[in-house]
Parts: sequence; C-alpha cells; structure tokens
Amino acid sequence: MKTSKDNFEIVKSDQEWQEILRPEQFDVLRKHGTEIAGTSPFNKQYRTGTYVCGGCGYPLFTSDIKYNSGTGWPSFYDSIKGAIATSVDQSLFMTRKEVHCSRCGGHLGHVFSDGPAPTGLRYCINGVSLKFFPKEDI
Ligand code: FE
Repeated sequence: MKTSKDNFEIVKSDQEWQEILRPEQFDVLRKHGTEIAGTSPFNKQYRTGTYVCGGCGYPLFTSDIKYNSGTGWPSFYDSIKGAIATSVDQSLFMTRKEVHCSRCGGHLGHVFSDGPAPTGLRYCINGVSLKFFPKEDI
C-alpha cells in the first residue's frame, strides 16, 4: 500500500506545487489541511461529470457515486478503480484512513465505514482538492 511518503508517478517539491496550486489547494493537497465544512461548491452539486485531482488531473470520482452525506463535505461511496490510495492517519487523537491521489499523492480527505450500500464506505473529500468536469466538456 502506498503512503504519502512513497514515490508517486508525479513528484514535485513544495515550491513547485505552490507555483501551480492556489494557497487553499496547497494547504489541503500537500499539507493535509481540511476545508471548512459547507464551503465547497461541490458539496451539494449533483451534475453529471467527473471529479479529478486538483493537483495532477487524475480522474478520481464520478457523479454517479456521489451522494449527500449531510456532513458538509463532498461525499462518495466509491472511487474510480485504482485512483485512490490510502494510509493510516493518527493525527487529532484519532485513527482515520487517509485518502489520497494514487498518481501524485495529494491528500484528498478520509474514508469511513459508515457510508451507504453497496460499499458501505463514505469518502469524505475536501472539495478544494478536486476539479470538476461536466460530462458535456469531456
Ligand atoms: Fe493527483
């Protein structure tokens, strides 16, 4: 299993990431930050399309696996196969499973086991870590 510290296909220095990411994207994707609940325009968006990594553009989630978790963060019950890597996050006195992009290692959020069928998973994702491409643009 890959972790954030492994070598990913796309590797950049903090300075290089800062040159291509907005400060709020850098904070989440590269520094494991968390956006304030309810602030993402993706939170209540259910348009058809694909959510890609805000860092490297890798397709991570699709609109058909998105659902309203009521948490204030965009939530999915699955991911595009192979797009996501996980690692154990023991910060904030909790043990959580961290979710990150399998291509650039960018931090996306966490996955919990209280999601809906068929997976029972809840991918709790920072909207700022994603970019959305509506179906008509793909
Ligand atoms: Fe990525």
